[in-house]
This record gives sequence, structure tokens and C-alpha cells, in this order.
Amino acid sequence: MLIIGAHMSVAKGLDKAAQDTVNINANTMQFFSRNPRGSSFKIYSEKEIAKFQELRKEYQFGPLLAHAPYTLNLASAQEKIYDFACMVMREDVARMDALGIEYMVFHPGSHTGIGTEAGIQNIIHGLNQAITGNENITILLETMSGKGSEIGVTFEELKAIRDGVTHPERIGVCLDTCHVFSAGYDIVNDLDGVLDEFDRILGLDLLKAIHMNDSMMPFGARKDRHATIGDGEIGLEPLLNVMRHPKLQGLPIYLETPLEDEGHKEEMKMIREML
Ligand SMILES: [Zn+2]
Repeated sequence: MLIIGAHMSVAKGLDKAAQDTVNINANTMQFFSRNPRGSSFKIYSEKEIAKFQELRKEYQFGPLLAHAPYTLNLASAQEKIYDFACMVMREDVARMDALGIEYMVFHPGSHTGIGTEAGIQNIIHGLNQAITGNENITILLETMSGKGSEIGVTFEELKAIRDGVTHPERIGVCLDTCHVFSAGYDIVNDLDGVLDEFDRILGLDLLKAIHMNDSMMPFGARKDRHATIGDGEIGLEPLLNVMRHPKLQGLPIYLETPLEDEGHKEEMKMIREML
């Protein structure tokens, strides 16, 4: 069965987001673990959590994915930025784990001048503070497009992060179709080759989730601009091929296309029909 959902707003509550997920005919969702551009988080009420868990169970949602805020930079050499990122990771890994959320994804970070090697060491140090090893949640490193000084642009960088942490068994990968295309992995003409490379470097068993997005920017542009499915430089067929690929069956798929809920509902309907 296809496990597919979209990025949902939790501004009106976790329970409301779960209900919206049902309403758009999705069976999973992604949501921000806290305010994506700020530092605050709302305390979920007991009633809200109960309703959320009830809906999730009743409609048999696939694995849920919490997304850490965009403002977090675990690679930063600036003390204030780094300490904030470490605190958010510590808090949100614990908060999402307590809710029984299966996965939490984050952008590894940007080294902003200190170099990839040093940036990776900062990320490892931050993750080690957040992961005790007793969690059920798995932290997913997102494949990045390579804009600016982003880390996580190559599979090798993701492997270096995972290999460095104390609890690598709690670390997986979320592959973003827009980002890898933009980073120079040719999923249009050589999907098998890209997956083979992923398997050789990381192991395909570490791939836990897919961010399904088309790209406004051309191949290898190293720019992160999501497009709706079929309306970008990747195109409909190559994205369907990702979803059809025998090695990727069963993985949860999350749309982060620039659409509201109604648009995502239509987009998922189209995908199901085309598949
Ligand atoms: Zn992301």
C-alpha cells in the first residue's frame, strides 16, 4: 500500500492536523516540531494529544515525520547559534519521541566558513547530546541541495555524520527528490545508478523516508526551490519512477510541494491514478 501524505500545519493543533490528513485522503503526515522560523513551541494539551493518537490509530497512519525548524544550524561555529540548535534538538527529539512519532528529520546544517569537516564534527557533537539511545524515534538526516555551505549534499557526508555518533542505530536518511537532483544526483536518467550509489555508501536500509518534490531549478543547480509534481525540471515520469521503484516500496512519501491542503489532495489523487 502506498504511504503518502504532505507537510501539514499544526498551527490549530496536532489533532486538527491529523483530521486534515484524513480529509485530504492521506495516510501519513509531516509537521514542524516547533515554530519553523522561531524558537518557540506550543505545549500540546492532553485532549489534543489524545484526539491525535486516536485518529492516527483509527485511520492506520503510516510512520509520522516531524521536521525540525529551518532556523536550526547544528554545524555552526557561532556559539549562540550552535547552542540554540543543540537545545532544540535535545528538546524536540524528546518531545517527539514522547508522542510516539516514528521519525524526526533535520537539515544537517551549513558550515558557514569553517569547512565541511569541522561542520560535521559540530553536528555529531550536537546529535550526541540529543540522542540517549533509549529513544524509539529515529533521527533522519536530510539530503541537501548544496546551496551556500550546506552539509549533507553527498551521501559520503551523511555517512560521516552517522558513523561519528555514539548511537548510529538511531540515525537514518530522508531523501528529498528535489534536493538530490539539484545536488547533482541524476534521478531522471539514472535512478538505478543513484540508488546503487546510496546503497554502496550508506546502505539502502538506512533510507527511511522520501520527500517528494519537483524542482524549479535545473539539474545540478545547487538551489533549493520546490515545484509541484510534474511542473518542474525533474518532471512527472521520473518522480513516478521513484515511487514505482522496487527497492523503494513501502517507504513513506511526504509532499512538500508549494500547495495548500486542497492542492495536496489533488496532487495525491493524480499520483495514485498515474501509479
Ligand atoms: Zn527539509
